[in-house]
Amino acid sequence: MSGPSDFGGGITPSYATVVNAVFCRDRGHDCDFAVQTDNDDELVHHVQDHAERIHDVELSRADVEDLITEAEA
Ligand SMILES: [Zn+2]
Repeated sequence: MSGPSDFGGGITPSYATVVNAVFCRDRGHDCDFAVQTDNDDELVHHVQDHAERIHDVELSRADVEDLITEAEA
């Protein structure tokens, strides 16, 4: 006999976390800048800010989304 399931309460398992990452290097820059977060808005904001300040490049949200790779947290 097994007890009541622990998985029925809407609890999200914590072992399968996937985050989105952007590596500046993927744009062809010789640059070690990378952002890794599960918040896409934050990710886009950080990459746009970096690109503008460091590389003098304006990226649209779509540009940033093109660079996103999935990474395991
Ligand atoms: Zn960079």
